[in-house]
Amino acid sequence: MQQQQQQTHDISPWNENNDDIKTVTEQQVDEFKTSYEDFQQQQNLYKKQKSIKVNTTNCRGETRLIRKLIVKNNWKEVFNDGDVCWLGLPFKYQNFEEYFTQYVNRFPGMDLLAHKTQSSFYLNKFAQYFPDEYEFFPKTYIIPDEIDKFQQEYKSTRTYIAKPDAGSQGDGIYLIKKLKDIKTNESMVIQQYISKPLLIDKKKFDLRLYVLITSLDPYLCYINKEGLARFCTVDYEQPNDKNLRNPFMHLTNYSLNKKSTNFQFYNGKNILDINEGTKRTYSSIQKNLEILGYNNQDVENQIDSLIVAYLKSLLPFLAFNQKLVFQKRVAEVKCFQVLGFDILLDEKGKPWLLEVNSNPSLQIEHEVYATNGKSVFEESYIDSYVKELVMGDAIKLAMIPKEDQEELPGFQSYRKLDVDATETIFSKMMQLYGFLSGYKFQEYLTSSKFQKLSNFPQMTSQTFLKHDYDLLFRKIILKSCNNNQMDFFQFINALEQLANRLNQDLEEMLDRLNQNF
Ligand code: ADP
Repeated sequence: MQQQQQQTHDISPWNENNDDIKTVTEQQVDEFKTSYEDFQQQQNLYKKQKSIKVNTTNCRGETRLIRKLIVKNNWKEVFNDGDVCWLGLPFKYQNFEEYFTQYVNRFPGMDLLAHKTQSSFYLNKFAQYFPDEYEFFPKTYIIPDEIDKFQQEYKSTRTYIAKPDAGSQGDGIYLIKKLKDIKTNESMVIQQYISKPLLIDKKKFDLRLYVLITSLDPYLCYINKEGLARFCTVDYEQPNDKNLRNPFMHLTNYSLNKKSTNFQFYNGKNILDINEGTKRTYSSIQKNLEILGYNNQDVENQIDSLIVAYLKSLLPFLAFNQKLVFQKRVAEVKCFQVLGFDILLDEKGKPWLLEVNSNPSLQIEHEVYATNGKSVFEESYIDSYVKELVMGDAIKLAMIPKEDQEELPGFQSYRKLDVDATETIFSKMMQLYGFLSGYKFQEYLTSSKFQKLSNFPQMTSQTFLKHDYDLLFRKIILKSCNNNQMDFFQFINALEQLANRLNQDLEEMLDRLNQNF
């Protein structure tokens, strides 16, 4: 059993080509040779790494996975120091000495993705400034702030999905067709529902793909070739009054569908082939898509563009937080992080971004209910296969020096993504925010710090005087619970209103301000 598992685990993307070598074209042979050379180059780089010591003191739900990786790779588990420090919880601002001596699997600031309203705010902003690059994000309204906008734009022919702010794993999510069905008293997002998803075996499914960031400067990002697909457990129908409340038809969350009587726990060996499980590999889905007549390369390119656009917009926020926390020692830190992208394909094969998870599940057990009603945990073969690949290669890759990484097209199961790291309007806003806050562990601006803007040339007018800054500040923070402070989201809104009141183009205004300090 152990041996069989081992065989399937060691699938190398390069070995797969061997069987086809007789039938391939010359160009493919060249490609194969190149990838084999890359492979050797990568192996040599990896061999240079000594046996890795992994500190598991702060591991949480992922302990089992990390221990499996330690055994499989001949690494060493340690409880003090070590080469890699694995954090099961988000970054803590008080304790970050290890970031200078060890590789740590978190970037400060990434938890901005933890709440649906916050991450939707960012994605909405990204879409507002780069509409062509962000048309993969379903139109989203943040409630209660944007309830008026939603009511104006609402169309009775459409379906919407409401998601509570703090929820996860499908908790509290419901579909809406009628305006009166919205519970406006809670903090949530309302999103346009993608009502014609691509179906396999008549079921809706979504993809969890893994993206690794190993450095911000240079910006090094990779996508894993493997991933997971999570299936619904009831045949899909277009939303109507009768099926609207059926979560097993509309929500693909595994934690939810495992409660369905139709749930199928596939724990066979052929997880890379087409099978009938409620959770399957991305490889298996790609084979299915090919049979259904979709062009996998085309789907992959669209997914890449979506992820690249997202990573481009994310960079200034991460860079700002790193600078804020590590200050002058920012170049010494060795953070890396794996993000989980939840993607839904529609019937045309177009990918839609549902969510980005900064803390994707690394559990490799599946809960099975015994006849006595008690639950026991069994290792899920598919979770082990995918997550060992994703996390094992992430650790090895993160430890390759940045200069060498820059030369690599990828490493093992990871393919490099070419993300444009040039300045965007968000970098300019962040720069200004940093300047006003003083870059000193302050995530918020006070009114007096915000008012510093009025000292710059052309930042007041006959209709917008110095004291109007305080009024604008108060108006913007009115709805927040953080009484006297403005966060970066609110600052973006404030800048937009400021440019409007001063009758200036926002980007020109930012350029002028940033040149002046
Ligand atoms: P959670 O974090 O609670 O899992 P998600 O945003 O991932 O919340 O939504 C849960 C599920 O609902 C998704 O996995 C997907 O199946 C479905 N879903 C979410 N948003 C949409 C949408 N805009 N269109 C269609 N289905 C959606």
